[in-house]
Amino acid sequence: MPYKMIIERANDRLMAMAELMEDNYFKKIPNNRIDYFIDESIKIGLETAQNSMERYSSLEEICEDKKVKIELDTAEYGFEMIKLRGKYNEEKETIIMYHNSIKRMEIAYKELGIDFLNYDTIYKILLAHEVFHLIEVKEIGNTYERLEDVNIFKLGPLKKFYPIVKTSDVGANIFAKKFLNLSYHPKVLNYLYLWGAGIIDKDKLIDYFDELDKKLNESHLNDSVE
Ligand SMILES: [Zn+2]
Repeated sequence: MPYKMIIERANDRLMAMAELMEDNYFKKIPNNRIDYFIDESIKIGLETAQNSMERYSSLEEICEDKKVKIELDTAEYGFEMIKLRGKYNEEKETIIMYHNSIKRMEIAYKELGIDFLNYDTIYKILLAHEVFHLIEVKEIGNTYERLEDVNIFKLGPLKKFYPIVKTSDVGANIFAKKFLNLSYHPKVLNYLYLWGAGIIDKDKLIDYFDELDKKLNESHLNDSVE
């Protein structure tokens, strides 16, 4: 099963690195702070999952306790809608789950022979991700606000600091993994989808994972120098 190799390579740190690289300000993170952002976001995700598991037995129970509704949106949004998966709407106190996106993901995984990623499992993983965001808002604060800001530019005495917002997603994915006791990282679902839907091929995926590995290693190399 060729997909197994992808799942095995998608470890927590590599997927955290992938998430950080999607941040608008990734390039502004000093090399020797990359580990900090990865480790701390993972820690927040894990702690939040552990606390939640002591208090609740299901994601639905968390939502109920926090007075947040779960809504299934069954509308068609065209080709681009796969980007809409789940969304926590703070004002409406609702998590919206996108039925057709989940369906498309399920079809893509079937294409690859991955039977365990069925509709219910995908739904739960995406819901868990959003539940973390709601816990951030209602209880623990946004992960990116709890972590250091990075300096975006320096012009003489002028400095501007911004948070690394993608750290919230690093936390959300670890939360989902721990709370649902998954043996694989939730972010790998994105890559398997792209592969199963024929948007990228396996070689491209492996190249990308190689690149992530290299970036992680480089960030460690610099530790001893700086
Ligand atoms: Zn998210």
